[in-house]
Amino acid sequence: MRENDWDRVLTDVNVATMEAGGGAYGSIENAAIGIRNGNIAWLGPAADMPPHSAVETRSLGGRWLTPALIDCHTHLVFGGNRAAEFETRLKGATYEQIARDGGGIMSTVTATRGTSEEELLQLSAPRLRALTREGVATVEIKSGYGLDLDTELRMLRAARSLGERYGVTVRTTFLGAHALPMEFRGRPDDYIDYLCDVVLPAAVEQNLVDAVDGYCERIAFTAAQIAKVFECAASFNLPVKLHADQLSDGGGAELAARFRALSADHLEYASDAGLRLLAGSGTVAVLLPGAFLVLRETLPPPVRRLRELNVPIAIATDCNPGTSPVCSIRAAMVLSGSLFRLTPEECLAGVTREAARALGLDDRGTLLPGKRADIAIWNVGHPRELSYWLGLNELEGLLINGADDPSCSA
Ligand SMILES: [Zn+2]
Repeated sequence: MRENDWDRVLTDVNVATMEAGGGAYGSIENAAIGIRNGNIAWLGPAADMPPHSAVETRSLGGRWLTPALIDCHTHLVFGGNRAAEFETRLKGATYEQIARDGGGIMSTVTATRGTSEEELLQLSAPRLRALTREGVATVEIKSGYGLDLDTELRMLRAARSLGERYGVTVRTTFLGAHALPMEFRGRPDDYIDYLCDVVLPAAVEQNLVDAVDGYCERIAFTAAQIAKVFECAASFNLPVKLHADQLSDGGGAELAARFRALSADHLEYASDAGLRLLAGSGTVAVLLPGAFLVLRETLPPPVRRLRELNVPIAIATDCNPGTSPVCSIRAAMVLSGSLFRLTPEECLAGVTREAARALGLDDRGTLLPGKRADIAIWNVGHPRELSYWLGLNELEGLLINGADDPSCSA
């Protein structure tokens, strides 16, 4: 094969490569891209394009290209929903009343336990498709609404099947340590042992786990309990992630740093000492503005300190039925600007380069030679517009591994 024997060439484009350390957005205007075997073979100013052959050459009329977007924190596989509970709350019911009526996370656990794998897939597909229609080609999906062996494995299998059925990359995260199930009431340490001795080993055995997560919070598990789960993950050579310091400072940032977690997520109440440790551990801070908005939180995550300490910042939807019924990565970007004061460039990096890092994926998240040709095509005048409009979808096309996602193409 000749060196410049390409499958496709995209010409007359402007490219936000999102390469770190370059100019704003890593932009190259009047550019071209050569694609071979699903990867970017060449990228640069069109004037510098070397002699080549290509099966297909497509001129895109000055459209902007970015890396396909990545949603690095979702709980989008679950049974039922909590719209009725939301309505009850807005009519004035207290949390106690809702809990007494069987509401809250346990209602989702009950619903998910009663939902078959195929039904889970059917229920979750529209949520996944909402993301891909906005240019998302890689999605992380957590378990954590089963809290028992059968349902946790069923959720992970449904998540994997979603990716296969819709041609997107799905990374599965085991979140057995999400909440304490009713059958272990008053015995959280026994539940942690059950996760480590039974559920996680079975999920690993079936090759269903890419990473392990935990919910470290007063209303969930202590840092010591999550540390036990993380030690179990380490014994399987699995990376970890953490729901850290969302509602209170529970030492989550410190715990994430100690285990060199891929990401520490939420972080509203993280201590300064914890943030300094994160800076040394290579952990990505994942900010989740949907939950912040829905819970009407008032203390934003420490964005200024994260910047000062050079902690990478990613953004995700946190799509879940309780605290973030959000199926729009673009909404997460816009909210990160208005609620957390991230710049539009930080917002775009947060759903491309840094989101890839939060998932431990180094083959995507930027548009550079050698990376996967996961490319979003936008009808915008500048990539800053992607963090500006709420509810306008300028996506014109999506290439996944160099091929068109037919549902997204103009
Ligand atoms: Zn979450």
